[in-house]
Amino acid sequence: MSFDLILRDVRLPENEAECVDIGLSGGRIAAVMPALKGDGPSLAFGGRLALPGFIETHLHLDKACILDRCACAKGTLEEAIAAVAAAKRGFTEADIEARAAKVLERAIAQGTTRIRSHVEVDPRIGLKGFDAVMRLRKAYAWALDIEICVFPQEGLLNDPGTEALLRQALKQGAHLIGGCPYTDTDPFGQIERIFSIAREFDVDIDFHLDFDLDASRNTIEEVCRQTEAHGWGGRVAIGHVTKLSAMPAAQFDHIARLLADAGVAVTVLPATDLFLMGRGFDHNVPRGVAPAHRLLRQGVNCSLSTNNVLNPFTPFGDASLVRMANLFANAAQLGRPQDMADCFDMVTRRSAKLLNLSSYGIAAGAEADIVVLDAQSRAQAVAELAQPLIGFKRGRQSFTRPAPALNKP
Ligand SMILES: [Zn+2]
Repeated sequence: MSFDLILRDVRLPENEAECVDIGLSGGRIAAVMPALKGDGPSLAFGGRLALPGFIETHLHLDKACILDRCACAKGTLEEAIAAVAAAKRGFTEADIEARAAKVLERAIAQGTTRIRSHVEVDPRIGLKGFDAVMRLRKAYAWALDIEICVFPQEGLLNDPGTEALLRQALKQGAHLIGGCPYTDTDPFGQIERIFSIAREFDVDIDFHLDFDLDASRNTIEEVCRQTEAHGWGGRVAIGHVTKLSAMPAAQFDHIARLLADAGVAVTVLPATDLFLMGRGFDHNVPRGVAPAHRLLRQGVNCSLSTNNVLNPFTPFGDASLVRMANLFANAAQLGRPQDMADCFDMVTRRSAKLLNLSSYGIAAGAEADIVVLDAQSRAQAVAELAQPLIGFKRGRQSFTRPAPALNKP
């Protein structure tokens, strides 16, 4: 048999003990087996880990890289929303496109092959962000699959004109709808509206759900209730949910069971949550990061994602998901290899499940999306912030990032 390319001597996340070869043909994976026989050019990786690429389930491309336009002093959520809302009035499509492209190119070099991008829609920005990201989706299809979640960052019921724009975006190809219930005076009302629009367009839902540390009341239970009432299990994700970090164990377990039973997934955004939460404390500052690892044990699907890059919500960022997995492990005090492997799964396999991707994995017949990391296991990759060395999208090499070389005397 002849192949376009053979990647030799790699380990796969689902079986790190054995090394295999991957044969690529016509943009797809034609064969995966040890000591693959066949002709064609080959690259050898010395037992390094190959994965189908990292997945961002929650990334804001439209408001990335605007730190130079925002003067923030407090580092609170309210300040970030206000600063970005002000900066947004100066956004043009070309400007959004240029900033977002910068993030996409970093993401590609960090081994990301799929992105769910949250894009703001309201009467001030209109569909500028949506149109810009739609164009980038085409322009970067050689390296990334991008899906767009349009959402009302500044409110839905309180912001007349927003719903019509969300509907227009969905008619023009937005892939799903998001919500931000804490921005409306009637959060439950917003949740209900979002479900009704999702049903009308038959799309998944991804809420920015809550963003504070008050565990005395929450909107999680209402989302679970509506998910079950609408038969939307497996199609709803909630992001941040920082309240989960503030709940005593019994309450947390109760909510985790509701999420698992309703089929609602959780996305934790550690860089943003660590930066914005607990600003009212002057000592013993809480982490404010939802304990995704404990949700996993209760049967809730979870992902970790970047959220923001270089803006008032998160004035950091290199679009590295291996860094995000490491940051979560560190903040959540996870040190055992199995726990670190779980963190790796939350930027790969579990993220694919959250996005309801029909194909994700290195197996014969799948599209040849492959990234090789400078590590031999998932746990090692997370612990050591392993660098991606090379990546392929549908069989075409999309980036190279050689390991550093030392010039010893
Ligand atoms: Zn977000």
